Order: sequence, then structure tokens, then C-alpha cells
Amino acid sequence: MPKIKPERVTIIGAGIVGICTALSLLEKGYAVNIIDRDRPAEGASHGNAGVISPWSCVPQSTPGLWKDIPKWTLDPEGPIALRWGYLFKFMPWVIKFLRAGNIENLPMIGDAMSALNRPNVDLYRRHLDGTGHEDLLRDSLYVHVYKSPTGVNLNQLGWRMRTERDVPLQVVNEGELHEIEPALSPDYKSAVLIKGQARALNPGAIGKALFEKALSMGATYKQLAVKQISPTENGSWRLHTENGEMSADKLVIAAGAWSARLLAPLGIKLPLEAERGYHVVFKDPNITVNNSIMDTEGKFVASSMQAGVRCAGTAEFAGLDAPPDYRRAKVFKRLATNLFPNINVDNGIEWMGTRPSFPDSLPCLGEVVGQPNLFSAFGHSHYGFGMAPNTGRIVAELVSGQTPNIDLQPYRTERFQ
Ligand SMILES: Cc1cc2nc3c(=O)[nH]c(=O)nc-3n(C[C@H](O)[C@H](O)[C@H](O)COP(=O)(O)OP(=O)(O)OC[C@H]3O[C@@H](n4cnc5c(N)ncnc54)[C@H](O)[C@@H]3O)c2cc1C
Repeated sequence: MPKIKPERVTIIGAGIVGICTALSLLEKGYAVNIIDRDRPAEGASHGNAGVISPWSCVPQSTPGLWKDIPKWTLDPEGPIALRWGYLFKFMPWVIKFLRAGNIENLPMIGDAMSALNRPNVDLYRRHLDGTGHEDLLRDSLYVHVYKSPTGVNLNQLGWRMRTERDVPLQVVNEGELHEIEPALSPDYKSAVLIKGQARALNPGAIGKALFEKALSMGATYKQLAVKQISPTENGSWRLHTENGEMSADKLVIAAGAWSARLLAPLGIKLPLEAERGYHVVFKDPNITVNNSIMDTEGKFVASSMQAGVRCAGTAEFAGLDAPPDYRRAKVFKRLATNLFPNINVDNGIEWMGTRPSFPDSLPCLGEVVGQPNLFSAFGHSHYGFGMAPNTGRIVAELVSGQTPNIDLQPYRTERFQ
């Protein structure tokens, strides 16, 4: 057992990032207090596609993407949706997003994504060990499927970025593909397999199991909405909650897409966008999906989970507070049937969640410059489920004054100023 440290660390946010950070801090002997206005692992961390890839290194913004955006946005069933009333507020972010995809930025972003993701499967297995829920993680391929028999071009930028980073890839033909995934439609003729990954059979249940582990290691939890944070004269932090004030020796912001709102009153302005995604879980699907499947045309992921086949994806931009538009989720009925002709889509449960997305697809990690004892751990965009355990490890090291074995420059909270 590590020596108990006298300082109490408070984490705002009990999503997968906050929970993994709590575990790493507890391992170091900190007293940890977790605060969330909801129950743990109910946000984006509940409904994601469950892909845990040590190899994710391709950001959302890449050169030439702008050519596809109008087509995708105007198609009511396309992978991107924009509420037109939100256009004006959205424009500054999208300009930064397109700039971030400049070819010169990509090696740095790819390396930074890689560094955060590489140990994720091992770290999850270590965290889950002894919880009784080890079986919620399965070894998996990531099967990127194409309709064209010649559709796979490994010289295309995304595949090249992976090859340059030694991602274990294999191109398979129609026969091999259908042996791996018999439920797939015969319309799919080729695929690229990314090997050596894992997938979650229930991402929310993994979050809850790890949360219970954190409580069993001594963490405390309060279900409260934090309205504001402010520094005190002695270097600690005050939290103004819906139920009075609390203090924290050290404070970690892991509030996902809502994190920037907590920092704005301190004069820290961040281009953190609410990138909303949807899923449908088809219960009683009558088919099994053996791996995580990425439909490269429909731009969504399908995976068999505990409750059924989950199809997840869509990037909807409507702001943090807009109500869900479940027409986006209903699209998955048609997409799922295209992918798996024998799937039963009669019994689908729809869900919407909010990715915390920065223009460069990287999170903010580390102590905020000029704000001692305040740490960022948010903004993991499409990759937060995979990046969470290493984020937790890094933030815990920074809180305890250690130097992590990773270049932290790409994740600086100040990089947008
Ligand atoms: C459709 C979809 C599919 C995805 N698929 C994948 C995938 O396959 N693999 C992958 O790696 N990632 C995936 N992601 C991304 C991933 O889910 C997110 O990056 C990750 O869950 C973010 O975790 P988080 O803990 O930062 O945020 P969240 O899970 O949103 O947690 C933030 C928490 O902070 C709390 N909070 C916020 N503000 C306050 C406040 N003021 N006071 C108190 N509490 C507060 C919220 O209640 C919430 O519980 C997907 C996302 C979506 C939407």
C-alpha cells in the first residue's frame, strides 16, 4: 500500500476519464473525492462504440476533408449534421478544425494520439483485474469494411499514418472477410483489419465497475452539480455547488464537454465543441458481430455488446444544450440492414451523448499555467474511451509532481491562445 498523502484531490466528472484518473491517484496514495451531477459513467462514457484501440493515430481533421463536408451535411442521413441556427457559433471552431488538419500538423498529432493510446488495453486489463468484470473486455480486430473489391488503398493518408507508426494491418479479400464476419452483407468485398485491439461489451458497465473499485480503494463520491470554481489565497480551490461550497487541495477538471464552461470565468477560453453522437442498440438482433466493424461508407461502428448489436456514430453540431434529435439515431436502422441483411431491427434503443472535441482531436492534459493545483483532463473527442486509462496515469503523475515519460507539449491547455 502506498503512503497516504495529506492532500485531498477532487475530480469534477465521473465519466471514464475522471474514474480512471481517480484510480491512478488512489494507487499513489491520494485521498480522492469524485463529484458528478449524474450517476457515474452515464455521459459519453456510457454510450460509445466500445473501441479500445492502442493504434488510434488519425485525427478527425485531415487535408481535403472540407470537400466532403457540404455533401455529408446536406444529406439528412449523412454522418455529419448541423443545426442551421447554430452555424454562426460553430464557424470559428470549424475554421480551427480545418486548419488543424494541415498536412504539416499531422505527424505531431498522430504521434501525440499514439502516445496516449498505446498502453490502453493493458491498462484497462490491470484496472479491471479483481473487479469480477474482467470479461467486459474482449480481444478484437477493428475491421474496416469496403464495398469495392479494390477499395483498399493503403497509400491513402489515414492508412499511411498508421503504417508509419507500425500499426499491425492486414488487407483481406471477400472470402477471408466473410469467414471473419459471417453476418456481413455480400455487398462488402474487402477489408483492412487492425489487429491487437480490444472492445468493450458494455462501456458503461466498465466505467461503473472501475468506479466501484475506486470507492473500495477509499474514494468518496458526491452527486452534485458544480456551478463555478475559484482559487483561494492559500493555493487550494473552492467549488461552488448547487448545495453549498466545498474546498479542494488539488482539483482535476474531467467534466467532458462541459469542462470549458468551468474554466471560462477564470479567463481561460477554449474551443471545446459539443460533438454529439448517437447509437442504437438492436436487442434480439439474431446475428453476432465478432469484432468492432467500421463501415467506411456509412461512417459508423457496429459491435455485439451485452444488450445487443450497437451501431454508433454521427457528428452532430448543435451546441451543448440542444435537445437530442433522434432522427439521427433512426438512420442506423437502414445502415445496419445494409451492413447485416439478416439483422432484426424491430427492437432498438436510441441514445445520444456528447463528445468533448477540440479542433486538433487532442485533449488538454496537465496543470493549467497560472492556476496552481488546477489540472485539465478533458477534450478526448472520438477517442476518450481508449485514451482514458493513460490520461489517468499521466494526470496522477503530474498531480504528484512526477514527470511523465511522454511529451506533454501537444496537450497543453494554453495551446489555443
Ligand atoms: C457515439 C459515440 C461513439 C464513441 N465511440 C468511441 C469509441 O469507440 N472509442 C473511444 O475511445 N471513444 C469513443 N467515443 C468518445 C468517448 O466516449 C468520449 O471521448 C469519452 O467518453 C469522454 O469521457 P469523459 O469522461 O471526458 O466525458 P463524459 O463521459 O461525458 O463524462 C463527463 C462527466 O462530467 C459530468 N459533469 C459535467 N459538468 C459537470 C458539472 N458542472 N458538475 C458536475 N458534474 C459535471 C457529467 O455529468 C459527466 O458525467 C464515442 C463517443 C460517442 C458520442
